[in-house]
Amino acid sequence: MKVIVDMDVCQDHGQCVFAAPEVFSLDADGRLGFVEHPDASLREEVEDAADVCPLQAIRVED
Ligand code: SF4
Repeated sequence: MKVIVDMDVCQDHGQCVFAAPEVFSLDADGRLGFVEHPDASLREEVEDAADVCPLQAIRVED
């Protein structure tokens, strides 16, 4: 699984962090970071994060 976030669109509000904390995080400056190739077992969490992102900035690929 590959996670892609359009950082030009992302506004770092962090809804994805609440939905999938093992994959998404905010650094000390409040900027979003994420695991690019998370374990397949986290797929549901990642898809939830993509769903809750208000800007639809998250894409998931196989
Ligand atoms: S929910 Fe979307 S806009 Fe918000 S931090 Fe995550 S990727 Fe960025």
